[in-house]
Amino acid sequence: TDIDWTAFARSLAPVEVISEPVLVKKRSRDFFWYSPILNEQLRRCFGDLVAVPRKQEEMAHCLGRAYAAGVPVTLRGGGTGNYGQSVPLEGGLIIETTAMNRVLEIGEGFVRAEAGALLADVNAALAEAGQELAMFPSTQEIATIGGFVAGGSAGIGSLATGRLREPGNLRALKVLSVEADPQVHVFEGEEVLNVHHAWGLNGVITEVTMRTVPMRDWLGCMATFDSYADAYGAGHALATAEDIAPKLVSVVDARIAGYFPRLVDHIRPDRDLLVSYLPAEKLADYEALITDRGGHADLALTEDKRKAASIPHAFEFCYNHTTLQVLKSDRSATYQQIGVPDAADTAAIVRLRDALGEEVWTHHEFLRAGETVQAIDLPIIWYKGPERLQQINEIYAEHGFAVYDAHCSRVEGGGMHADYRHLAWKKRLDPKGLLNPGKSLAWPEVCHLSADEIAARQG
Ligand code: FAD
Repeated sequence: TDIDWTAFARSLAPVEVISEPVLVKKRSRDFFWYSPILNEQLRRCFGDLVAVPRKQEEMAHCLGRAYAAGVPVTLRGGGTGNYGQSVPLEGGLIIETTAMNRVLEIGEGFVRAEAGALLADVNAALAEAGQELAMFPSTQEIATIGGFVAGGSAGIGSLATGRLREPGNLRALKVLSVEADPQVHVFEGEEVLNVHHAWGLNGVITEVTMRTVPMRDWLGCMATFDSYADAYGAGHALATAEDIAPKLVSVVDARIAGYFPRLVDHIRPDRDLLVSYLPAEKLADYEALITDRGGHADLALTEDKRKAASIPHAFEFCYNHTTLQVLKSDRSATYQQIGVPDAADTAAIVRLRDALGEEVWTHHEFLRAGETVQAIDLPIIWYKGPERLQQINEIYAEHGFAVYDAHCSRVEGGGMHADYRHLAWKKRLDPKGLLNPGKSLAWPEVCHLSADEIAARQG
């Protein structure tokens, strides 16, 4: 671009800016390197300048200046996304939200916080009020509440309360438009879906109101099994045990568990692993379930005991942390995101594992959708190139398992349909199309239409 970045940076005053190229480059990356395909596509994409506003007025000032200058704007929270969501594909201004980090209000069943608040800090503030977030991603120490809403989908707690998009989990979002004079829009109730998981391409979230639940004394548990089928079957039984009511159940292939050095001496080696969080008073019921199904309950720790023993949180071995533990020692691994058609059908999982062979190691998470418990698989895949990855995707599809491709940096990737509600709001709140450009496949086709015409495509 022919922007004079020095002059533009000056126009942002009094907002703090970062222009040191090394630091700007660092803030142009996220965890896209999980994917060798995205790593190749995105590792040379960098922003030109970073702004770090401390409050909503400063954020509005940055957006107004960007609008006037026609500068692309990419929002960034903790930068822990996996699909290059916060990578500025067309350069421009990166706005980091982490200085807008106040927890504003805690009420019965909800918390309201600025978008840049770290999820771990929100949970710490809630703990003092005897509450906790209904769900949080395993990256809570680095990830922001706004980034979770804009880029994430589920987490620890989703087995009890469903994904973020489940009614009642996201109560309200305060969003700024990108105009000469940025306007505040508040989305409440179901309207939050107009902004949730839009990757920051249709408005800038400044405040999030999210569901909380009463805090409980959770046990982080590990159990081991001699076969994946047994571990999975026990996992499904535990996930659907209403009387135990765990908030997390994950099943991890024994070979993946072999990459968890910090669990050596705490779990039996070379066994398939079941990771869970359950209320402390349900320990006996849990142990009976594990024993009945031929497993061994290796570890059950309250938070205090876990800290004293300096064992990592159980949630560091679930969701996309499982993949990270493997990648820490071997970068030739990658992963995929798979939907399981029938969570109760262990035999189908076994058939699929046989068909996938040695280069794919399964890892299942259970989560609630309405009244039912579903399963997803975030397997480790030993990467042999894009063609082989495609063949592996086809094996999943042949077995009736949906592939939500993790190797795509477009919001409609991952098997999602274009969300024309998102794009209609992009037209309204980002008329120049400056926010996170290049992240929507459908936007170039509809950007010339009116917002109402775009919305009508949703059907
Ligand atoms: P970022 O990566 O900074 O941003 C994510 C997206 O949101 C980007 O498109 C960005 O432009 C946009 N954005 C950020 N802030 C705003 C804002 N204020 N307004 C508008 N748009 C904005 N995800 C899960 O859902 N569940 C998990 O359990 C989970 N586990 C993970 C484990 C690991 C090890 C890793 C690497 C990732 C994991 N993720 C998970 C993905 C990611 O960590 C989460 O989605 C996280 O909540 C993102 O927050 P962030 O602050 O890092 O967002």
